Amino acid sequence: MAKLSIVKVKLDREVNSYILSCATTKEAVVIDPGQPAEKIAEQAAGLTVKYILATHGHPGHVGGKDDLKAATGGETGIHTADAKQFLRSADRYLLDGDELDFGEFKIQVLHTPGHTPGSVCFLVANHAFVGDTILAGGIGRQMPETDVRRQMMSIGTKLLRLAPSTALYPGHGPATSLERELAQNPIFRGAGARA
Ligand SMILES: [Zn+2]
Ligand SMILES: [Zn+2]
Repeated sequence: MAKLSIVKVKLDREVNSYILSCATTKEAVVIDPGQPAEKIAEQAAGLTVKYILATHGHPGHVGGKDDLKAATGGETGIHTADAKQFLRSADRYLLDGDELDFGEFKIQVLHTPGHTPGSVCFLVANHAFVGDTILAGGIGRQMPETDVRRQMMSIGTKLLRLAPSTALYPGHGPATSLERELAQNPIFRGAGARA
């Protein structure tokens, strides 16, 4: 079994970017190319960046994608709904169920609308990169385009289907796990859906 390496890079606006790489082939994927893009590029030195993917279209999560593409040559991707919502272009428009390969790994795209219409989570083995859909102890900051009811539905229909041991890597704050959030996150406590 190939080894997956996950490096977290802290960016402007307290955004977490993640560099996933296959230890065998050195192929890598960047999730959430915010700014400064150079900081991500530095951390990705020695890797072949195949994809640069955004969990959603908010500037803090995607504002560095073109700079990072220029620096690394990776192919950019964002869900179609957020490409429209935020007028963002990319090499590839993602849809629910898409699968992207890097090295010996596969990324599965889960469309989890709510925080934004085109919010997605990326699943690699038992690691889920969840953007602002769910954070440790809460959810991402609500914006004008956020539909919390839809977000809760996405969490219920897509994330709660994953194994409880699934590790969660949010767009802000510390990593956590599904079972930990089930126990501690107020959104799972009845009327707590306004967290
Ligand atoms: Zn956001
Ligand atoms: Zn955010």
